Amino acid sequence: MNLIFLGPPGAGKGTHASRLMAQEQIPQISTGDMLRKSIREGTSLGLKAKQFIDAGELVPDEVVIGLVKERLKEADCQKGFILDGFPRTVEQAEALSSFVKIDKVVNIFLADEIILKRLSGRRVCPSCNGTFHVSRLADEKICPDCGKDLIQRKDDQPETIKNRLDVYARQTAPLIAYYQAKGLLVTVPGDGSVDENYQGILKVLGINE
Ligand code: AMP
Repeated sequence: MNLIFLGPPGAGKGTHASRLMAQEQIPQISTGDMLRKSIREGTSLGLKAKQFIDAGELVPDEVVIGLVKERLKEADCQKGFILDGFPRTVEQAEALSSFVKIDKVVNIFLADEIILKRLSGRRVCPSCNGTFHVSRLADEKICPDCGKDLIQRKDDQPETIKNRLDVYARQTAPLIAYYQAKGLLVTVPGDGSVDENYQGILKVLGINE
């Protein structure tokens, strides 16, 4: 199954994609994670991407399209994949359709006020890649899964969050109508508990847990 998870930042795309990856044994392809890895490794692509990510802007289309195109050629993607955070513009969606067939686009819907709360309280573990909300952590500095220090992503600071939401509304939200017109869109609520939201996704995909 070739899937796209669409939705604003903080909607839970990454959390649900990672769970579905484990359940269905298909890779989660997160362009955000790939770009952050390039930044950590200090590659020329990482250097180029950093300024855009830190400002909450989108990295240029040609950069992410190239990344995804190469990744989808790998063996583990041949029986399906979950794209998480890509495409984010109509140009990216058009390019994607030229090299792969998409089966379904899961659009996770969430109101802006909830997104703001979620993202400003989000902490991530750079070691095991876990994502947590401060309200659920006994110690907001320590990863409950692996014990390493948690960090707040630079682009989860309040000013950058606002910009990311604007960017989403302007550049990414048009993909909802784009995929609806292609008959590929299914919309699920993103405002329940993680389990409830995940069950909603399984249901629209026709998957049993
Ligand atoms: P994410 O982890 O998906 O929230 O992505 C973090 C940041 O990486 C975004 O705010 C963008 O700056 C950049 N990014 C991730 N995916 C894309 C994409 N498909 N197109 C452009 N920029 C992207």
